Amino acid sequence: MSSNHPNDECLICFNKKHYYARLSEFFIPADPICNKCREAFIKSRKLIEISGLTVESLYVYNEAISQLFIQYKELFDEALAPIFLHQDIRYLRKKYRGFTLVPVPSRLAKVEERGFDHVSLMFKSLRLPIVELFANSSLTDQKKQRFQERQHISEHISFKDSTCAVPHNILLIDDIMTTGASLQACYSLLKRSDRQIKALTVAGQRQISKGENKYARKSKMV
Ligand SMILES: [Zn+2]
Repeated sequence: MSSNHPNDECLICFNKKHYYARLSEFFIPADPICNKCREAFIKSRKLIEISGLTVESLYVYNEAISQLFIQYKELFDEALAPIFLHQDIRYLRKKYRGFTLVPVPSRLAKVEERGFDHVSLMFKSLRLPIVELFANSSLTDQKKQRFQERQHISEHISFKDSTCAVPHNILLIDDIMTTGASLQACYSLLKRSDRQIKALTVAGQRQISKGENKYARKSKMV
C-alpha cells in the first residue's frame, strides 16, 4: 500500500497512521484512527441493570468521545462511523451471535436533517440483522431537556408498524446512555417472557438525579 493512500491517514488527526502502527495491525483490519487518538477513548465494557434490562456500555463518556460524537452526529461526518465499534467487533459478534439489532430511534426530523441513521450506521460492522422497529415523534432534542423531561420520552416512542414481526433475541442499540429512559421505553414495548432482550451502547454517561428511585441500579465491571 502506498504511503499516500487515504487509508493511511487517521480519520481524526489526519496524521499518517504508520507513524504509530503496531505489529498487531498487520493481522486485523486496520483501525481507522491512529494509536495516539485511540488512547483518548477509555474502554469500560460496563454492565448496568436498569429495571430488568442489562445495558453494556463500551466506553466511558469523556471529552474525547463527546467531541467525536459531535463531529459525527451534529456535523454529519458519517465517515467516522467505523471508529466507534472497531476495537470490539470480534468480541461483540461472538457475544451477541443470534441477536437482532434494534436501534433506539432518533427524532424523525433529526434523521432527515442528517441524511443517515447514525445508530444503525455505527453498528453495521457487526454484520448482525438490524430491524428498525421504532419511531420517535419527539419534537425537542433530548440533550436539551432536563432529567425529569427526559423521562417522558416513552410518550414519543412507538412501533413504526404494529404488524411487523418482532425477533426473539433482541439487542437494543444506542449511541450514548444518559438516563436510560429511551432504552427503557423501547424495552417496555418489547418485554415478553419468550423474548431475550439486552442493550448495548457505545458510551455510558448515566446521570443520577436527586430522589431518583424508580430504577434498580446495579453495576459491575466485566
Ligand atoms: Zn490520529
